[in-house]
Amino acid sequence: ALRLTQSLIRARESRRRDIGLIDGPNRLQWETLFNRIQHLAGALRSHGIRNGERVAILAVNSHRVFECFYATIWAGGILAPLNHRLSGAELAGQIADSEPDILFVSPEFLSLPAEVRAAARDIPIIVFDDVAAPEPFLSYEALIASADTCEETQRQGDDGALLFYTGGTTGEPKGVLLSHENMVANSLNFISHIGMDERTVHLHCGPLFHVAAAARLFSVTQAAATHVVLPRFVVANVLQTIAAERVTLATFVPTMIRALLDVPDLDDFDLSSLRYITYGAAPISEALVRELMRRLPDVRLVQSYGMTETSPIATMLGYRDHIVDGANAGRLRSAGRAALLAEVRVVDSDGNAQPIGATGEIIVRGPMVMRGYWRNDAATAKVLRQGWMYTGDIGYLDEDGYLFVVDRLKDVIISGGENVYSQEVENAISTHYAVWSCAVIGLPHEKWGEMVHAIVVPRAGLNITAAEIITYCRSKIAAYKCPKSVEIRFEELPISGANKVLKSMLRAETMRRST
Ligand code: AMP
Ligand code: MG
Repeated sequence: ALRLTQSLIRARESRRRDIGLIDGPNRLQWETLFNRIQHLAGALRSHGIRNGERVAILAVNSHRVFECFYATIWAGGILAPLNHRLSGAELAGQIADSEPDILFVSPEFLSLPAEVRAAARDIPIIVFDDVAAPEPFLSYEALIASADTCEETQRQGDDGALLFYTGGTTGEPKGVLLSHENMVANSLNFISHIGMDERTVHLHCGPLFHVAAAARLFSVTQAAATHVVLPRFVVANVLQTIAAERVTLATFVPTMIRALLDVPDLDDFDLSSLRYITYGAAPISEALVRELMRRLPDVRLVQSYGMTETSPIATMLGYRDHIVDGANAGRLRSAGRAALLAEVRVVDSDGNAQPIGATGEIIVRGPMVMRGYWRNDAATAKVLRQGWMYTGDIGYLDEDGYLFVVDRLKDVIISGGENVYSQEVENAISTHYAVWSCAVIGLPHEKWGEMVHAIVVPRAGLNITAAEIITYCRSKIAAYKCPKSVEIRFEELPISGANKVLKSMLRAETMRRST
């Protein structure tokens, strides 16, 4: 069976004395990582973790998060990483739903919200400590120092390994249960495009509670490459770390790329070690991709598209696809082709394949598709049919199999009977020089059913009016797609822990204000 521990064993066997993970001043050899993981697994075992029991973690990124992932899996458990940007009530809901036997926390979260304390009142809470852990928490380092190692619990490929809560942007959170096989398949999909090996040095700077960042932990280990972990995305630290640790590969989401390109002295950082940037997890404008290519011409770019339920990679746009000339210039708007082990189709509302070029729902099949939602068969039945994952995204395929993601099904605005794809309008608006970020939503309208509304955040120090935005859009896209109203907003758009714009929240805020 494909199992996630194999890559750890292999990396340790082949690179014992080499540094496997760098976390600030902590530089851990593979041998050290492996030993710490085995002791931690022993501690988890003595707390009852063996066959599918859950371990929850509420932490900023660190080498200890990496250890918790592998130790839980080694002991036979399922790791549920919690999004620390959620409210106490939301976190308590996920703890109640996943029923962990242990909770790990990093020192940032020692003053746990009352709801979390109540939800976790019966289980041990273990704190990542460089100093002594305050009562009533248990000390992580003391546990590793005192526990015996344990034998690996043999798991099948189908067995659960990770539990990610998703739906932060859509409402009710659901747990996505991902298996060993799911995650190994994802690593193969990733590695096949990047050609990673043990010389690769990968920077993790996205939150490890999100599948896109967490999945990279396994891919990097699968290639026996080196991990560099930052606690969080802080743009100056990212650039300094790339230079200092000679990072060769970094994974970003579009908002991070925007932030990187806006660093005034970007050219002063030595980024010469960087071979690849992979990006994805949210829509990106072609303008931003082109800007990145212009500013970092020696870095190969690879895009991926997918979702938590697909572990997450479903399609990839390889670096060669980024080298565009006249004939394939449109490629940069594509999210690429089916990943190595994936099948991708576009279907109509009856589930029949759409002809080339016609839009419909994107569906995905393969060993990276989740087994189902955690203890929620009704929700699973809605999205999984005959092995196909119905993504809730709309897109189309071209004749060479390139997928173009057009919008989220739920974000499509139907105005006067016409479909308006919010992302298309956002792409048009975001090419305006004075626009920093924007979101396009539908608002209820008596005559048209829905009306296109844009929320635009100007760049610092620049001014723009609603009328200018509307005029600008008219020069770019059909009139019926242009916003009928525009709000100029001077604070950042609300984003989820995974760095996605919370359109449902914007919609609710806007409606509240207009009534
Ligand atoms: P999540 O629920 O956090 O797993 O987010 C998955 C969703 O993010 C997908 O269903 C897409 O709507 C969006 N997404 C992910 N990658 C891309 C991409 N490369 N281009 C456009 N949208 C993307
Ligand atoms: Mg989702």
